[in-house]
Amino acid sequence: MKIISIEHIKCPPRPPIEQLLDEVSELLRLDRVTKTILVDKDYNLSVEDYKRFHALKILGVRYIPVSVGFEEDVDLTLEELGFDKDLEYDPLKVCRNHSELIKACWPTPLIRLNSLSNHASDVWAKLEYLNPFSNSIKDRIGWYMVVDAFENNPQLSTSRLIYEASSTNTGIALACIGKSFNLKIKIYLPQTVQRCSDAYIRLLGSDVVRVPEQLTIEAIYRVRQDAISDSALHINQFENDANFISHLRFTSKELDYQLRSINLKPRRIVCALGTSGHASAISFYFKSRYQDKVEVVGVQPARDELIPGMRRVETGMKWIHYVKIDELIDVTRREAIEGLVKVASRDGLPIGLSAGAVVAGLEKLSDIDGVSVLVFPDHFYKYVEFFTNCQIT
Ligand code: PLP
Repeated sequence: MKIISIEHIKCPPRPPIEQLLDEVSELLRLDRVTKTILVDKDYNLSVEDYKRFHALKILGVRYIPVSVGFEEDVDLTLEELGFDKDLEYDPLKVCRNHSELIKACWPTPLIRLNSLSNHASDVWAKLEYLNPFSNSIKDRIGWYMVVDAFENNPQLSTSRLIYEASSTNTGIALACIGKSFNLKIKIYLPQTVQRCSDAYIRLLGSDVVRVPEQLTIEAIYRVRQDAISDSALHINQFENDANFISHLRFTSKELDYQLRSINLKPRRIVCALGTSGHASAISFYFKSRYQDKVEVVGVQPARDELIPGMRRVETGMKWIHYVKIDELIDVTRREAIEGLVKVASRDGLPIGLSAGAVVAGLEKLSDIDGVSVLVFPDHFYKYVEFFTNCQIT
């Protein structure tokens, strides 16, 4: 048996995530590896261990135990294999490129919300608006989808052209990150998205197409057709497993270690739903590790209500069907604004509308005792035009 860098293994491309979930869940539950991975003498992966290898890879371990010829028993914790190396950062934050910049911002802070906490309930928020490009949770997927496409999709190296439908945040993230990789980016914005988004994306040197559709997902057919005719890569956050994987490997892992560092066991985690990427990954990670001791609550817009970045489950989401969401809460735009105003005015945090929806979602639960964690996807600067007609008290 030898322990080698995961980079040295030659392996076929990653299969769809649904084929790996059992292996990933088992690794998270046991928190250890109990068998070597079979390779030949040139470190070509054996067919039998294909899924276990990819499960370890998407969890971000740096080393794996390998053997040639037959499997051997081992007992190595995930940390012994470098699972926690994703959390290492340079305290001086000196960055040579976009990948180093985004990692310098991780873990995004976890902060206690005094406005929502009392003797019985302890409420914390993970501030995803402290990501560096779009000031949103979408930097994570923008970066990871690009890195992953270079590894797994030869089309990107040839065309260097990405088309994507976005409600702003993924668009800004891709426009920024594309610079490091010498990519041209075209973003399709639905008509309902705030006007300032066109300027932001154009200032970042990317193209914008305004489309008549209301929701980002409704524009997908158009984007796919254009991408085919221009030989561009439609990176498609709604279907791209790199979305779910980025939140499994980074967002969820960070939150787990942050909570453990202060000896807190979360009773519930509340997330806004858009593609379902972060809510699904967080549910999968925490339920694999801690079973149903952690409840995951998904917040969606109430029927016929528009909250930027969010969608109702029945409009079609991929990963939510592979995981358990304990409760789904409907929130109106008015309630989202009230949630935003409460946290902004009382905690002094400039949170966005979907974060306000998460606050409203928590407050609608019948029992909020214990430790709650809210994921705040972005800040309020992009949404000024939504506040002009409302009374802020
Ligand atoms: N909130 C905002 C502001 C968003 O932009 C998005 C996604 O676009 C979400 C919430 C939902 O996140 P996810 O796509 O991970 O479900």
